[in-house]
Amino acid sequence: MNLLTDAWIPIQQQGSYQKITLQQLLCGEQSGELCLPRDDMELACLQLLCAITQVLFTPKNKKELGQYIQQPMTAQDYVEISREKMSWFDLNHAKTPFMQIRGVKSTQPTGMDKLLAGVADGTNKAFVNPQGLGEVLCGGCAAIALFNAANNCPSMGGGFKGSLRGSTPITILIRGKELRQTIWLNVLTEETAEAAMPWYQNTKDQLPNYLDTVKADVKIAASTIGLNRGLLWQPAHFELLPPKASGCCSCCGCIEPVYDGFNKAKFNYTVEGVWPHPLSARIFTVKKGEKEEKFPSFTTTAPTWTHLSRLVVDQQTDKEGQQTAPVIQQARTFMASDKIQLIVGGYRNNQATILERRHELFSLAQGWATHGEVIHQIIAAGLAYKTALRKALYLFAVGIKDKVHGSGINLCEPAETNYYQQTENLLHYSLASVDYAAPSAALNAQNGKLKAMVTALFEQATEPYRQEPKMLKALALARRSLNKSLQELKPEGANT
Ligand SMILES: [Zn+2]
Repeated sequence: MNLLTDAWIPIQQQGSYQKITLQQLLCGEQSGELCLPRDDMELACLQLLCAITQVLFTPKNKKELGQYIQQPMTAQDYVEISREKMSWFDLNHAKTPFMQIRGVKSTQPTGMDKLLAGVADGTNKAFVNPQGLGEVLCGGCAAIALFNAANNCPSMGGGFKGSLRGSTPITILIRGKELRQTIWLNVLTEETAEAAMPWYQNTKDQLPNYLDTVKADVKIAASTIGLNRGLLWQPAHFELLPPKASGCCSCCGCIEPVYDGFNKAKFNYTVEGVWPHPLSARIFTVKKGEKEEKFPSFTTTAPTWTHLSRLVVDQQTDKEGQQTAPVIQQARTFMASDKIQLIVGGYRNNQATILERRHELFSLAQGWATHGEVIHQIIAAGLAYKTALRKALYLFAVGIKDKVHGSGINLCEPAETNYYQQTENLLHYSLASVDYAAPSAALNAQNGKLKAMVTALFEQATEPYRQEPKMLKALALARRSLNKSLQELKPEGANT
């Protein structure tokens, strides 16, 4: 099973499902949307396709990238260039199987479900995953799962190293008109790669670490890891057991040769510093003169739009800052005058347990690239109205010491959840439709609606307590607080 020649890419077009090869996809012979029953596997599949394409066909400059985006490549080019790296992408290669190490010793094999994030360990797995998922996987799904575990998931636990981006990074990709375009929009040119990692030229001939292995206990500076090596970094020692002749893949449902387990072994080394992954924003703080960098991740239940500012806007002060993903930096240079669609995804975890997975689409109207402050204003307003609601309900619960007796009833959490649910579409709409050059009218309209929603949510939350004489003072206090906050946030002030 070789990812460069076999038909492993699950595609749906006009209701029909089939698997196609990378050559068919990049040469424009087949197209459609990726189709897998799990949204995280779909996202990982897209990431893997982008990584393979990046590794095989890094365009020199913007012009060459533009040609790839516009025109499918020729079969001859595909075959010629991909031939050199056949041994990188063979799942069953005798010496260098894809994302695996030969000769991994473990006392007993691990089930394939451990490779699928959140199947074996999720607290609510019965609700999230159809039963039986992960028992056996076909070659394509096994490759996607290996890649996903290496890039997007917490490590397998004590003694197993996690991905170069930490345990559950947020991944951001640009969406094109069709899958082939989407892939190219997420490939860096040599120029962008050099800007993101100044060591790019010196390291571009490096092999992946499953071909040129890392020695035990070494320290590796992130700034010595080249683009190809970093994209295909396998943090752990895994080896799939030989495939069974045929079976029904528990993920995609196809009848194909299947894998039913893998060996894993602990392996230690240290990567020092942060590797600038093409599909990740980075945030940093300066503490005692030292810059601490990390990748944003979903740490709370707050919706994805609350993170969008730090994913697409660069900002820097003496003490902290945020830098968008190299792929977004690149898009700014040739998509600034267009609207852009972004795919944002990742897991939320508690150590090794996956609590939630996300895979969402955002549209940003034309002007997004040069008016980061507007994106910031839209999101800041969305958060400020939420805070106004919380603050009022908090006062309702606790009152003011020695003055107003609190109700003792904390309505903050359910009200916040309702707020996020009811405002989600509005925030998406604002980002997609605002006139970034002259945003006042749209911001005023958005904030007027947010105000109405907050007022209604406050009334709805406190309604059951309006007849309680003991709570009347707390309710009046809360309402005063809400009105004061809303007054300060009045829509007219939104653009100042
Ligand atoms: Zn499958």
